[in-house]
Amino acid sequence: LDLESFIKESHMVLDLIANYYKDVEKYPVQSKVDPGFLWKHSPTVAPYLSEPLEEILDDVHNIIIPGLTHWQSPNFFAYFQANASTAGFLGEMLCTGLNVVGFNWITSPAATELERIVMDWMGKLLKLPHSFLFSGKGGGVLHGSSCESIVCTLAAARDKALKEMGGHMNITKLVVYGSDQTHSCLQKAAKLVGIPPSNFRPIITSSSTGFSLSAHDVRVAMEEDMASGLVPLFLCGTVGTTGSGAVDQLDGLGCVAKEFGVWFHIDAAYAGSACICPEFRHYLDGVELADSISMNPHKWFLSNMDCCCLWVRNPKLLVDSLSSDPEYLRNKFSDQSNDHEVVNYKDWQIALSRRFRAIKLWVVLRRYGEANLMSHIRSDVKLAKHFESQVMADGRFEVVVPRRFAVVCFRLKPINGGNVCEMNRNLLEAINSSGRAYMSHTILGGIFIIRCAIGTTLTEERHVDGAWKLIQEKAADLSKKCLI
Ligand code: PLP
Repeated sequence: LDLESFIKESHMVLDLIANYYKDVEKYPVQSKVDPGFLWKHSPTVAPYLSEPLEEILDDVHNIIIPGLTHWQSPNFFAYFQANASTAGFLGEMLCTGLNVVGFNWITSPAATELERIVMDWMGKLLKLPHSFLFSGKGGGVLHGSSCESIVCTLAAARDKALKEMGGHMNITKLVVYGSDQTHSCLQKAAKLVGIPPSNFRPIITSSSTGFSLSAHDVRVAMEEDMASGLVPLFLCGTVGTTGSGAVDQLDGLGCVAKEFGVWFHIDAAYAGSACICPEFRHYLDGVELADSISMNPHKWFLSNMDCCCLWVRNPKLLVDSLSSDPEYLRNKFSDQSNDHEVVNYKDWQIALSRRFRAIKLWVVLRRYGEANLMSHIRSDVKLAKHFESQVMADGRFEVVVPRRFAVVCFRLKPINGGNVCEMNRNLLEAINSSGRAYMSHTILGGIFIIRCAIGTTLTEERHVDGAWKLIQEKAADLSKKCLI
């Protein structure tokens, strides 16, 4: 690592990134390349000799960027946004630049301690019960994804249940509950920790509950399972479902979880960020009944990829399940992990190695402060309300489920006995292939819905208006061609 070239070449990369952001609005939002396009531009083996950075950056500009779908475009309205920000980027640079691997306290004390501090800060912003904070004997960890957080909590729940039941229990009896709107990572996690596929219960939701999970239906499912000799293990409630932003009634679910002695996890991957605002905090009511909760700052909290916060009420259960203690990792501090001051984060996650994500979140929290972070959420919600009011004012369209955060679920209304699903598919295809905006879809209660998720950092009212104009234009075109 030669410092002179490090500085010079870092500047070249920074210039490229800054120019990318300057131009990002001009690119077709959804990439237009065909599968396999990059193979045609790439040598089949890695170079033997060093290549100049200029040539590499030319390739980034000419070959890589055209093959990207532009998540940072202000016209990106698909899935959930991956918020980039100056502070998120600077924090990520510090993380990558310092490049420490803090799997044990001693392998980077500041990395571990900063993570504990930042997790308590975040927990306080969300007004989590004190028992989830380090200062309250709980604790938090930064993972790369919600999927990882759910695998880890599910493993802890599994091992706790198997231990409590001693020799009378085997894993084939354990059942995991969520809803048909729960993110697919719950099903993947259940598979990974060895729950038989037939013991995964995605309970059906409906428009009558706004696609949120009913505590009554969970109770019925658990009673039925127990009657057939199975053992309820884990219940996942969601604040801000992926499909429509629905919110499960956490207090009702939490009471059922307590009654049946199951681990209650809350997945607030998307909408958790909004809950720092007092007007959204009520969606977390019932969190006091949970065993764990996770949310993704890399979605809506100005923290570049990747960053997922997981809090657990009883860290010992996580550690019991995930710790390993090989001789080559032992040191005079590792044996003090029961002392609350020494945390060995390798025992709170799947991998051994880990990134210094805490420094990124710390920079975001310090550079923006709670006030600006709340304004960021509120301005996206305001833009979503603006989009929603435009949809509602056009008689051809309808908003299909109530909007809670910054995702608007809408569709063309059925007309003249046409195939409404096909019409909306055609409309979405026309929007996305225009390159001027990118939206995604879901199916709720059998209805095909277009999702407009507002929240990339660069999106302004003019982009939302542009997207709405595009939708109207494409609907008119399709109507002329009798495709709707
Ligand atoms: N949970 C919800 C509600 C989500 O919306 C998503 C992703 O969009 C996930 C979990 C998965 O998150 P990750 O990609 O961090 O595993």
